[in-house]
Amino acid sequence: MQFSSSIPIEPSATLTINSKALEKKARGERVYNLSAGEPMLAPHPAIVEGALQAMHAGKTLYPPVAGIPELRQAAAQWMRTTYGTWFEQKNTLVTCGGKFGIFALLEAYLQPGDETLIIAPYWVSYPQLVKLFGGVPRIIQTEEKSGWKISMSELKKIETKIKILILNNAANPTGAVYTREELKNILGWAKEKNIIVISDEVYSGLVYDGAEYVSCGSFPEHQDHVIVIQSCSKHFAMTGWRVGFVFAPEEVIKVLTMLQSQSTTGTSSISQWAALAALEHATEIIPTVRQAMEQRRDIFIKTFAQLFGITLSVPASALYIFIAMRHLQLTHSDSVQFCRELIEKANIALVPGAAFGAEGYVRASFGADANELCESLQAVAVYLQK
Ligand code: GLU
Repeated sequence: MQFSSSIPIEPSATLTINSKALEKKARGERVYNLSAGEPMLAPHPAIVEGALQAMHAGKTLYPPVAGIPELRQAAAQWMRTTYGTWFEQKNTLVTCGGKFGIFALLEAYLQPGDETLIIAPYWVSYPQLVKLFGGVPRIIQTEEKSGWKISMSELKKIETKIKILILNNAANPTGAVYTREELKNILGWAKEKNIIVISDEVYSGLVYDGAEYVSCGSFPEHQDHVIVIQSCSKHFAMTGWRVGFVFAPEEVIKVLTMLQSQSTTGTSSISQWAALAALEHATEIIPTVRQAMEQRRDIFIKTFAQLFGITLSVPASALYIFIAMRHLQLTHSDSVQFCRELIEKANIALVPGAAFGAEGYVRASFGADANELCESLQAVAVYLQK
């Protein structure tokens, strides 16, 4: 069968490995799954109650395409009170996870050949989605020794015309978090160059050690060219419910609503009512999820040090430890081959650094509980000793 040449992309590396792990688990095998990034916690009772009430009340027909007004309002209010952003209900779209928001934005903005700046290591889906809509990913590399952050001097070296910058703050897979000063400079540079900034902020609630988080939506002088992506997945441990948000100027929301009306129709009404309940309990749920993930991060680092004799650098945010393969005493740096062997021979699921634009690294998620993390690292150690 001949498929359209407009799908030149690869499947999501994170989800492909996660599916492989889930398949093996369903067959009854012991699997050590450190692949997909999700806080593995039971849903807060208020979230479950929100969904149940919606079902009992028959709120199960088509929701408005842009999302139920109560949720749009609550999400905008949450961003305003938490991060001092300028968004109102009319600037808010409810999407099927943060990923569909990025998908729809790239579809709306990109024309063939448009360059989109992506900072590596990047989340696996950015370059693929850019290619899907005919854009050209322009990858700019960062290094571990600079905290995996892009510097102004590197940005200023760029000579070609960039249409969009995708900024992932806080970042998957590195945990890098940008300061207000750094964001001010990046956004100033982007404005001068007429660049649209898509700021993917889905890990903003998982910033550790009491550090401050600054949203790109908190710079009113950049309202015209900054779009923020958010999600309930990480904040409320709601990955399977598929609720995300786009915050943008009203005319952008209108275009995306039109695209959504011709594609997903919006996310499940039940999930939307559950998300509203989550937001109503945000001040209780978000710190609980954050504390649990911070503890898991620390357990991962400690256990890794005990098993491998190396103290890894501690990520400031998100759900991942991005490990240089040399710390595993490997004699090669082919991350794809290593991760393939691990899942096939030892049922251990890690994601290769190559999928994030950083060969020689592997990504481990610390979203699983302490026991699972320790047993998984133990399994890696046993495999490597063989
Ligand atoms: N963002 C998460 C990850 O990187 C979820 C899976 C995905 O959609 O990539 O693991």
